[in-house]
Amino acid sequence: MHEHARRMLGTQFNLVEIPDCNIQARLSQDLRASIRGVACRTRIDSQFIDALPNLEIVASYGVGYDAVDAAYARSKKIIVTNTPDVLNEEVADLTVGLLVSVVREIPKAHAFVRERRWQTSEYPLSRLTLRNRRVGIYGMGRIGRCIARRIEAFGLPVAYHSRRPADGVAYDYFPSLLELAHAVDVLIAIVPGDASTVKTVNADVLSALGPEGVFINVGRGTVVDEEALIGALRTGTIAAAGLDVVADEPKVSENMLALENLTILPHIGSASVATRTAMADLLARNLIAWFQSGAAITPVS
Ligand code: NDP
Repeated sequence: MHEHARRMLGTQFNLVEIPDCNIQARLSQDLRASIRGVACRTRIDSQFIDALPNLEIVASYGVGYDAVDAAYARSKKIIVTNTPDVLNEEVADLTVGLLVSVVREIPKAHAFVRERRWQTSEYPLSRLTLRNRRVGIYGMGRIGRCIARRIEAFGLPVAYHSRRPADGVAYDYFPSLLELAHAVDVLIAIVPGDASTVKTVNADVLSALGPEGVFINVGRGTVVDEEALIGALRTGTIAAAGLDVVADEPKVSENMLALENLTILPHIGSASVATRTAMADLLARNLIAWFQSGAAITPVS
């Protein structure tokens, strides 16, 4: 757990820390019965919840709470909280940074200088450009809107897909992801990793993006059919991709690592000291508010 959250929680509660979710093996029955709240950044499944008979609240570190079995928690009347909004701008910054890096080959150009090759040759022109592109955003939620604002400032038109049109948003709306992919040549995924989004970025969607297509994923790795993505990058069905998330994190397949036109980041969307501290703060305030007033600050819906 983040040190800031540990410090805040330590002033209010007795803390029991465990390094993984193997709670049955790690804690005695008496100790488990005394636990009323959980702060987590790991998987919380139904067995974990069942092992804590007096649990009232699970405070998850991050806005995506796919690691927590929230439906099961709800069935037991246990509150789940996440850390929305405080990371929006940070994640949006990283997203456009990754997009520009992929299109203008910034990591490769840096390696070129570091390998001292600049002294003897010029870096080749980037095949791709952001100019004259049309950008599709898959997920026009809190972070999607922040990404869209940045893309607008780049002078590029924005379109989007979500299950319903987003309130107060004037960008072109596409009721299906496939239609959106046909209409754009950059697709940015920023949807949650739940059952409704699993492998929705599939071979058809990538093919619709086209040979100049660029795919960026900052949502969850499960959203992508990774075999289809590897195939599309290998055959030139799309031009390039950038991922901040992969399905089986932190494992990255050798097939992915071998691709020249794929840039992978180690899930760092929100990972600055300032933003992670803000997330830790909100996590701790949720637990404190719950036990002081009976109302959490940011419960998931
Ligand atoms: P929001 O809930 O605000 O937005 C989610 C958006 O996705 C909404 O527009 C929603 O619209 C849309 N959506 C959800 N399910 C579907 C679906 N099945 N089909 C189409 N659209 C869908 O979430 P945030 O913007 O705060 O965060 C989004 C996700 O980004 C998080 O859940 C997390 O997984 C990921 N994330 C990744 C980070 C990183 O470090 N890489 C950091 C932070 C977040 P509608 O419901 O109308 O369909």
